[in-house]
Amino acid sequence: MADQFQLRFSPSLANKPKPPPSSGPEKKKPFNPFENPPPQLTIFPIGPSHTLVLNKFAIVPEHAILITSTFKPQLHLLEADDLAATYACIRAYHDCLTEGSEREELFAFFNCGEHSGASQPHRHMQLLPVARMRDGLAEGGKAWSVLANRLVDPVADSSKVPFATFVEKLNEGVQAEELHAVYRRLYRRACTAANVGVGNGDEALLQGEAKISYNLAMTKDVMVICPRTAEGGAVIDREGQEVGMLSLNGTVLAGTALVKSEKEWDALRTDPEQLWEILGKIGVPSGPLSTKI
Ligand code: AMP
Repeated sequence: MADQFQLRFSPSLANKPKPPPSSGPEKKKPFNPFENPPPQLTIFPIGPSHTLVLNKFAIVPEHAILITSTFKPQLHLLEADDLAATYACIRAYHDCLTEGSEREELFAFFNCGEHSGASQPHRHMQLLPVARMRDGLAEGGKAWSVLANRLVDPVADSSKVPFATFVEKLNEGVQAEELHAVYRRLYRRACTAANVGVGNGDEALLQGEAKISYNLAMTKDVMVICPRTAEGGAVIDREGQEVGMLSLNGTVLAGTALVKSEKEWDALRTDPEQLWEILGKIGVPSGPLSTKI
């Protein structure tokens, strides 16, 4: 099954700013790249509350970021308009068919919490064109498809991953309130699986800061949440030397693992079992709780 995971060498990740330390001496306010995005990276507003910008550290061409137009915390639970703006981008990308071109899809992901691979505290969803994720794969990427879409079929081999995921299908044209309801159901199930905060009732669980680290993924057809307990693991080469750390964020729900260096890439390429072992450590073990709807 590791062969259905795409290993992507993304040197731009090595340049990505690190999150500020959560404790330590008071320092000046960290730079927020989404407070005043430069005009050359700004695409356009999406509704009254969000703005679409290009990612300065793109992992594939046309990697875009949907930010809240005024600061909202990344750590807080998502609101209906965050999900609706994301779905509007996914839908518009799918519906925009120019003559002679094929329909294309967007994969959206959101990283929340210390184990999720997140770095920026200003709320943002990330958008990747699926076609660009196929670029460079053998045979035009025919053997690979977005994991999030595969997860709806619980018995298929291609949906088996060593971490729990919670998924629901989305109806075509789904509206903001329904998207929010799906999100809250998935988040609640992820909290139950992670054994966090559930006894305190919905009021406490569904308000303010998220009680768990998690990744969310959305495509035209599905929404998925994956509770996270670790960001990744050490990568070991054939000589038994540690050559780096594999850090996984929401792109893991596309069925991709991004590596920062050629040494990590070589070590994992030649030892796919190792990739599977690291994937087995990033979340809650998959099992009967991670059933699909
Ligand atoms: P995350 O690491 O999930 O919080 O996502 C933050 C995203 O913002 C990453 O994809 C970064 O590459 C991107 N990013 C970080 N700093 C900048 C910046 N100065 N300008 C544009 N994008 C940035």
